[in-house]
Amino acid sequence: MNAKLIDGKAISAKKREEIRQKSELFEKETGRKICLAVVLIGNDPASEVYVRNKIRGCEATNIKSLSYTLPATITQAQAEEVVRALAVDDAVDGILVQLPLPAGLNETKILNLIPPEKDVDGFHPVNVGNLVLGKESTVACTPMGVMTMLHEYGVEISGKNAVVIGRSNIVGKPMALLLLRENATVTVCHSKTKNLKEICKNADILVAAIGRPAFVTADMVKEGAVVIDVGINRVDGKLKGDVDFEKVGEKASYITPVPGGVGPMTITTLLENTYLCGVKRYRAKKR
Ligand code: NAP
Repeated sequence: MNAKLIDGKAISAKKREEIRQKSELFEKETGRKICLAVVLIGNDPASEVYVRNKIRGCEATNIKSLSYTLPATITQAQAEEVVRALAVDDAVDGILVQLPLPAGLNETKILNLIPPEKDVDGFHPVNVGNLVLGKESTVACTPMGVMTMLHEYGVEISGKNAVVIGRSNIVGKPMALLLLRENATVTVCHSKTKNLKEICKNADILVAAIGRPAFVTADMVKEGAVVIDVGINRVDGKLKGDVDFEKVGEKASYITPVPGGVGPMTITTLLENTYLCGVKRYRAKKR
């Protein structure tokens, strides 16, 4: 493989150590730990793994975690009540409601009860709006983690052609806005895009967030491109990305592996967002 690996695990370990040190200083100064409340509704196995990893991440970074595990049979009103209580709890700095929610629960209504200043996932319309406006906001963890990876490896963004495949609210759209904020010329592609291959071949930075294994093939990639694979697909019990890693790795200058690329950065960015929410709330109260 010619491409250099962008090692999400290594960046993640470095960032977690930084967060741990900062959150210890916060505890010394304030006499309390930064606190994240994690709400899991139902027993989706993948969600249980994600929540466990998030709680472990909190332990590793001196962040207190409060875990709320609720049955899938909970009513909308009961779920809303849990989030409302956390929203007004002064000891809670961040609230995370693990998605997807069981069928029958209104996700938007529940998520919008998380106040923007405790919205560690960056999903609240106020945070999304501020991102669009180019103002300070908490940004969705996965695209923010991708930006950290690009920065850590010194990838030039300004003036480059960036192509994002995928336009979801949690990955594709915020990814495009973050690249635009750093002066890339951004194209967003989706399932209705025509000439996808030609558009991708023009990318200096190509981000794949589709959810289809090995969708991005070598003939779609420009020689020397930086390729970021956000995809997580389970194939024969193994995790595979959206990029044909081996073949694209022959053409790209940098590439992220799956697993060990974007995945670890997502949780680390959640921890960073939680830390920042805690600090901002503390400063706002002191004023
Ligand atoms: P999503 O909501 O399903 O969005 C997928 C996007 O891909 C959509 O915008 C869709 O277009 C587009 N798409 C589908 N088929 C396409 C095609 N043939 N050509 C071009 N575009 C196509 O998924 P998501 O939540 O953004 O997640 C994307 C992938 O990233 C998944 O594998 C997910 O598991 C993974 N993920 C990873 C992390 C991580 O931490 N590494 C975090 C979040 C997600 P339309 O809008 O037209 O339907």
